[in-house]
Amino acid sequence: EAKHNGKSSYAHFSPEMSEVSHERLQMESLMRRALELNEFELHYQPIVHTETGKLQAAEALLRWNNPTLGLVMPDRFIPLAEETGLITPVGEWVMQEACRTAVGWGKTTGRSIGISVNVSPRQFRDPGFFDGVMSALRSSGLKPELLELEITERLLLDNSIETATILYQLDKAGVRLSVDDFGTGYSALSYLKSYPFDVLKIDKSFVNDVNKEPEDASLVRAIINMAHSLGLKVIAEGVEEESQADFLRREHCDYSQGYYYSRPQTGKDFEGWLKSTHRIPV
Ligand code: C2E
Ligand code: MG
Ligand code: MG
Ligand code: MG
Repeated sequence: EAKHNGKSSYAHFSPEMSEVSHERLQMESLMRRALELNEFELHYQPIVHTETGKLQAAEALLRWNNPTLGLVMPDRFIPLAEETGLITPVGEWVMQEACRTAVGWGKTTGRSIGISVNVSPRQFRDPGFFDGVMSALRSSGLKPELLELEITERLLLDNSIETATILYQLDKAGVRLSVDDFGTGYSALSYLKSYPFDVLKIDKSFVNDVNKEPEDASLVRAIINMAHSLGLKVIAEGVEEESQADFLRREHCDYSQGYYYSRPQTGKDFEGWLKSTHRIPV
């Protein structure tokens, strides 16, 4: 970086910058030990059938519980985990834990619950990624059809043979694939026909204003229609209000997820709730 600063070959550190990098370094060193200290945990958010409100699956969402930093949300540490490569072991743990948990729910409740796991680009590109997924399925005994991997458009920007190959291998293994945050990336839509995706997750920024901004309503409607004509299912993210749920029902959006139905919950709470009801209480 310093080289690009022109005349001087020294980077100019302001006090704020060194504070930021100090915080970063501290976070990085704490993160390096977080796995062995068991500081990560998964929370689960229901994904429901829009029409009936019945549970379809759960999305696993990572949290980091650190004595110094407190409860750290993924937007604060996933980017650093990606930069440092720590996302690979952390992501492997997430995959194992999510699959194991879904199988546990199946045993205690007698119901097959799908589980969605977020995968970041660096994690996906790790040469051991595919084997890691297979090993999580094997050791947990989860049916591949119950596992859905959420991938962002960012991954597809590289247009690489390797990425395509892994996507096809996963598809062949029976794992479901979804495009997360659909509509926020800069990918060309043509990837939808070249890769074996099953699901589009409409980003919450579009869902937010479906009843306030006619343009957002049009976009959501268009995404749903396009997805359906390509044979894909649609999940709306960030559903917070009844009026949004009503809109999505009218537009035949297959599945919905958001605070209106439920916030992400601990595995224990989610299981307790699973045992007590088949529907989301709204
Ligand atoms: P995402 O995959 O798009 O997950 C949805 C995010 O929206 C979650 O935030 C969820 O708690 C939040 N959300 C759900 N319903 C609502 C709603 O009605 N309104 C609003 N405003 N937000 C809602 P969270 O848990 O903070 O996760 C943020 C992002 O971090 C995720 O976005 C995902 O990209 C990433 N992430 C989470 N867990 C993992 C993981 O295990 N691995 C990787 N690589 N990334 C993860
Ligand atoms: Mg997601
Ligand atoms: Mg498939
Ligand atoms: Mg999303």
